[in-house]
Amino acid sequence: MSKLFKMVILGAPGSGKGTISSRILRDFGLKHLSSGDILRSQVLKKTDVGQMAEKYMKSGKLVPDETMVKLISSELAGMNTSAWLLDGFPRTRAQAEALSQHEKLDLVLSLEVPDEVIIERIKGRWTHLTSGRIYHTEFNPPKEPGKDDLTGEPLVQREDDKAESVRRRLELYAANTGPLKALYQELGILENFHGTESNEIWPRVHKYLQGFIPAKGGPF
Ligand code: ATP
Ligand code: MG
Repeated sequence: MSKLFKMVILGAPGSGKGTISSRILRDFGLKHLSSGDILRSQVLKKTDVGQMAEKYMKSGKLVPDETMVKLISSELAGMNTSAWLLDGFPRTRAQAEALSQHEKLDLVLSLEVPDEVIIERIKGRWTHLTSGRIYHTEFNPPKEPGKDDLTGEPLVQREDDKAESVRRRLELYAANTGPLKALYQELGILENFHGTESNEIWPRVHKYLQGFIPAKGGPF
């Protein structure tokens, strides 16, 4: 392949972005760049960027565009020998415009899962806080309702998994992502994948990507 493939994945919290991303990496051998992971490593290393970003991350706010653009551009500059998948960046129209000055994207893939499906999925989620084990009242219920299978300790519903919090995050996502998608639509590189489950969306994503990059494995 003459040119290295560069793509961005968009998807609301709970849309299955993590699942689809990991399958893309597995089957197409792209390098993965996650803005959340990069930020968390800056926080751990206590860099200047990490220390300033931490305040925003803790309160669930977006880190300022200027900081994000600098951080991600420098990561990308060191990756000009491999194809990549960018995840979590850009998050705002300003970030997208800045990115487009340095990098020409081949594809922006957007997972379009209805809000109501996401809310139903997340609101049934219960967590065992000390181990991080996650259950779902419908898809993966604990043996005894409200109790962890291994310890018998009570399960809790995380504050941000409650329906109202999820709804708020989805609204924020839509407000930030709308202008981004409009830009990529104009550029003719946006591809929407509608569906309700990763297993149903994935074969279509796989097939579509095969038109751009040779796959290493099968669709499942
Ligand atoms: P998701 O459920 O999609 O993973 P998240 O809120 O956990 O959502 P991460 O991508 O893990 O998102 O990022 C964690 C935090 O880092 C965000 O809440 C935000 O404060 C900050 N962050 C990550 N990417 C960006 C970005 N592109 N612009 C601004 N802030 C960002
Ligand atoms: Mg995350």
